[in-house]
Amino acid sequence: MAKTALVTGGAGFLGSWMCERLISEGFGVICLDNVGSGSWRNVDHLIGKKNFKFIKQDVTKPIKIGGNVDYVFSMASRASPVDFDEHAVDILMTNSLGTKNALDLARKKKARFLLASSSEVYGDPLEHPQKETYRGNVSTTGPRSPYDESKRFAEALAFAYLRNYKVDVRVARIFNTYGPRMRKDDGRIVPNFIMQALKGRPITVYGNGSQTRSFCFVDDLVEGLVRLMLKDGLSGQVTNIGNPREFTVLEVAKLVKKLTDSRSKIIFKPLPKDDPARRKPDIAKAKKLLGWEPKVPFEKGLLETVDYFRGLG
Ligand code: UDP
Repeated sequence: MAKTALVTGGAGFLGSWMCERLISEGFGVICLDNVGSGSWRNVDHLIGKKNFKFIKQDVTKPIKIGGNVDYVFSMASRASPVDFDEHAVDILMTNSLGTKNALDLARKKKARFLLASSSEVYGDPLEHPQKETYRGNVSTTGPRSPYDESKRFAEALAFAYLRNYKVDVRVARIFNTYGPRMRKDDGRIVPNFIMQALKGRPITVYGNGSQTRSFCFVDDLVEGLVRLMLKDGLSGQVTNIGNPREFTVLEVAKLVKKLTDSRSKIIFKPLPKDDPARRKPDIAKAKKLLGWEPKVPFEKGLLETVDYFRGLG
């Protein structure tokens, strides 16, 4: 019998690619989303397929599903720093109560559980690159705390369900990921720079642009998550999933300008508070555990993403 997977946040950027991937592999997919930051457009082409079911619901409400569920992908949450202020309470509740509801369902259905956690659990890291053993440098009250601390709580909760209730849990710490289906107005670096470049508006580098990030194309990311979920014997494993090729923000601005053939100026704006200075995953564990490493070069993935944004008109 076909296995069934629940994807919370399934209409979001990452969640919708996950739904699509699982459907292509013959899973029955239940997508649960309140279509807050996610979008109907992301799942439009899946609605009506016989192995796809959409439940419009906020994940902070108890999840009731009849029948079997074999896998729970917990992928609901806004993830853009521009939302960390306006949607602070929502983010905290989604990652705490929402994760609890997804874990309760996994417990009830005896399903495997994968938490989409984040490199933000490392905060503004003092260790570089970041290994899974690093415990982080996080403000409990700063502007990024709603996301950072609720992801940390979600990891703790997942491990509590493992210890207390023997739920099979796996944690993926996702580093900066980009690709088609990010929102135009998402606010994160890749959509922001691409939209600015395409419209000939100034490309806004925050600070002096010397801070670094490492960017993973969404296909690579989904492949890593699927392997972490499907491989037997990995309960209780925490793994970074990301691309270790590191760029400064200024390099990204120049690259986007070049790839879009844009005449936009690069301008400098104040650096947001607590913006991490450096970020790069150590992926030795993912390589060993999952035989996984990213394959898509940043330039190639960016071009695909540019095409997507161009297509939106
Ligand atoms: N950034 C920037 N200009 C923008 C958007 C982002 O310089 O228009 C910088 C931001 O300050 C950070 C990096 O790009 O240093 C990545 O930001 P993003 O919001 O994508 O996510 P983060 O990695 O900070 O969670």
